[in-house]
Amino acid sequence: MRLILLGPPGAGKGTQAKIIEDRFGAIQLSTGDILRSAVAAGTPLGLEAKEIMARGDLVSDDIMIGVVRDRLQQDDVSAGFILDGFPRTVAQAEALDALLAELDLALDAVIEISANESILVDRIEKRATETAGGPRDDDNVNALKKRLAVYREQTTPLIEYYAGRGSLKTVDGMEDIADVTIAIENALGH
Ligand code: AMP
Repeated sequence: MRLILLGPPGAGKGTQAKIIEDRFGAIQLSTGDILRSAVAAGTPLGLEAKEIMARGDLVSDDIMIGVVRDRLQQDDVSAGFILDGFPRTVAQAEALDALLAELDLALDAVIEISANESILVDRIEKRATETAGGPRDDDNVNALKKRLAVYREQTTPLIEYYAGRGSLKTVDGMEDIADVTIAIENALGH
């Protein structure tokens, strides 16, 4: 199973990727997780990404395409993968198409987990009042609003991009976690 999960920050891509990973034996490839590990380890990639991520901006296409190119060539990917957080721009989607062609791999589907922006903002505002300082640098109201704006401007064109190729399915990410999983499985024909 080779999948892309699209959707705004907070829609549940990571949560669903982990559930699907268990069910289909495909591995979750989260570019956000790769970057957070690099930041924690203080690698050159991490040093470059830290401030950009904290602001809620996007790390450059060139860097991200390089990260995914390396990751897709590792052995564990042969079981299948769920891309979570990549691609995020049309340039990344085009580079991914070229990379998959080069590796002779085809995508099974692109799933958009749709979400209502004002509900996402309400949720994070509630969480911010409950916990002082989230677990992530970018887990605060201002950064979330910025990330939502970046998603709207730079990532939503991918919905058209993949719809035009006939590979896009959309599920409602505002349902309960288990119901979203069922919707994804139905979209995949399982
Ligand atoms: P995520 O965990 O997917 O929400 O990603 C957290 C942050 O990492 C994003 O807000 C970006 O700063 C950065 N990031 C993750 N994936 C990408 C990507 N494909 N392109 C650019 N920046 C990314």
